[in-house]
Amino acid sequence: MRVPQIDLVRQYSELKPRIDEAVSEVLRSGQFIMGRWVSEIEERVAELCGAKYAIGVASGTDALKLALSACGLESGDEVITSPFSFVSVAEVAVVLGAKPVFVDIDEKTFNIDPGLIEAKITDRTRAIVPVHLYGQAADMDPILKIAKAHSIVVIEDAAQAIGAKYKNRPVGCLSDMACLSFYPTKNLGCYGDGGMVLTNDGELAERLRALRKHGQVGKYLYKFTGFNSRLDSIQAAILLAKIDHLESWNETRRKIARAYDEMLGELDVEIPHVADYAYHVYHQYTIKTPRRDGLRSFLSEKGIGTAIHYPLGLHLQEAYSSLGYRHGDLPKCEDVSRKVLSLPMFPEMKSDEIEYVVAAIKEFFANG
Ligand SMILES: *Cc1c(COP(=O)(O)O)cnc(C)c1O
Repeated sequence: MRVPQIDLVRQYSELKPRIDEAVSEVLRSGQFIMGRWVSEIEERVAELCGAKYAIGVASGTDALKLALSACGLESGDEVITSPFSFVSVAEVAVVLGAKPVFVDIDEKTFNIDPGLIEAKITDRTRAIVPVHLYGQAADMDPILKIAKAHSIVVIEDAAQAIGAKYKNRPVGCLSDMACLSFYPTKNLGCYGDGGMVLTNDGELAERLRALRKHGQVGKYLYKFTGFNSRLDSIQAAILLAKIDHLESWNETRRKIARAYDEMLGELDVEIPHVADYAYHVYHQYTIKTPRRDGLRSFLSEKGIGTAIHYPLGLHLQEAYSSLGYRHGDLPKCEDVSRKVLSLPMFPEMKSDEIEYVVAAIKEFFANG
C-alpha cells in the first residue's frame, strides 16, 4: 500500500463537477480581477470566522505583508513572532524594513510561549504575530493582555487554522487582524495561491482594501504606497465551491487524529497535545520522537509519506543570520525541530490507510 502525506487529487475528484463549473463560469464572465466571487468569498469567510471584514489577497504571505503594512510598521520596528513556523512572518517583516524578534515556544503545543514575550518587548516593538501552528490556536488571552499593556498590535497567523477555535471562539477574530492562506494544502485550499486578511476594525479594512491595489482609493488616486495583491476571481470561485465542506473536513481530520491518538497512545512516541482551550483542526498531525529520522526512512520504505514541519528554526536560517542568533538561543524550538514528524493527514484518508500507517510505526518500534 502507498499512503501519501497528502493527496489533493482525491478531493478534486469528489468535487469535480462543481469546481469545473465554477471555473468555467468565471471564464465565461470575463471578470478575472475582482469579480463578484471575490466579495462573496470574503463575506463567507468573515462570517465563518466571526470577523466584520475580510479582504481577499494574493497569498497568505501577502496577507501578513499587508496586515503589517496596514498597522504602520516602520523601518527599525520590531515584530515578535515564533521561530518554529513557516517563514512568512519573518520574511515580510524584513521586507518591510522591520526586525523579527523570535520568542521560544511551548514544547507541548508548538506555539509561542506567552510567558516569554514580555522580556522581549522594547520601545521599538510594534506587533506580536502568534502563529496557530498545525491547526491549534496559540494561547491568545495572555498575549492580548501583554499587547494591550504596551499598546502593541496583535496579528494572528491563522494560515493553518481556519475553523479552529480558542475558548469556543473561532480564530480570525481574536485580535486586531488575522491572516489566512488558501495555499492548496491548507484546510481550505484553492488551486493556486490565495489569502485573506480579517479584521473587526473598519479603518484597517479600508486601508487593507487600498493596499491590495496599489494604495488606490479612487481611479488613479493613490493614498498609500501599496501592492498588487488581489485574490483571483477563479480562486475565489473555487473557494466558494469548497467552503461548505470545510466544517465536515475539519471534523473528519479530528476523527482521523482521534484514531491515531488511540492507536499510537501506547507506543514510544509523543502524540499531539491538545490544550484545554483549543478546538484543534489538525492541519497537521505531528508526533515527536527522538528517533524521528530512522522512523521517517522506515515509513518511506513502506510507501508512507511524511513531512518535517519544520527541520530548522527560523532564527538559525542563513537568510536571517544577520539577526545574530546562535545555536542554543531558543532551546525548545531547536529540540522539537529534531523530533517532529507529520504523518499522513487529509480528510479523504481511508481507515485502512490509517491502520497501515499505525502498523508500520508499531513495527518500527517493535524491532527496537
Ligand atoms: C502556508 C503558511 C503561510 C503562507 O501562506 P502562502 O499562502 O503560502 O503565502 C504563512 N504562515 C503559515 C504558518 C503557513 O502555514
